[in-house]
Amino acid sequence: MTLQMTPMVAKIVWVLMAVGWYALRIPHVRRSRKTPVAADGMDGTERLRLAVSLTGLGLIPFVYVLTGEPTFARRLFHPELAWAGVAVAIAALAMFRLTHKALGRNWSVSLQMRQDHKLVTEGVYARIRHPMYTAFWLWAIAQALLLPNWIAGLSGLVGFGTLYLLRVGPEEEMMIDRFGEDYRAYMARTGRLLPKWF
Ligand code: SAH
Repeated sequence: MTLQMTPMVAKIVWVLMAVGWYALRIPHVRRSRKTPVAADGMDGTERLRLAVSLTGLGLIPFVYVLTGEPTFARRLFHPELAWAGVAVAIAALAMFRLTHKALGRNWSVSLQMRQDHKLVTEGVYARIRHPMYTAFWLWAIAQALLLPNWIAGLSGLVGFGTLYLLRVGPEEEMMIDRFGEDYRAYMARTGRLLPKWF
């Protein structure tokens, strides 16, 4: 028996991606509460950025999966696109796992520096500076491929894109403030989202 790709199956895949991401993240949220914060970056701008991203990657697609709204934005369902979405969703989760493993206690939801913060340049961070953002981009792409709705499908790209564009610059400044030349050298040999090969 072969599995038929239908809109319902594609929606379930989106839910599994969200649940898988959450399951990967829980232990890190728990652990990070125990690791003292040295510099807290949770201000109004940061809250707004996170809210926009959560709305696009989570809230809007979740409402769509549950209710089919907004129905006026329905698009044709293409099984091939949805299958590609499955592959991208798997890649996103794999990337999340690698980034969380490499960042360990240095991870936080917002732009924070922890006490004893270490600059991680190993594993998936060896060639890419922001592999966790790569993982979120992959999530947003998977969402667009899986959900046959213009708004629910594309809201992830818009929501996460906003967070990414408003955050990656300040994050790198924060890292330069803290790690100086070490981070500048690290920037020179890495790419932001994709490996720098030469
Ligand atoms: N931008 C990174 C990390 C996102 S989590 C990525 O996409 O993979 C955000 C937190 O990670 C920030 O608060 C920052 O303190 C920390 N961080 C980012 N890059 C880091 C690195 N190379 N080493 C250690 N901590 C890092």
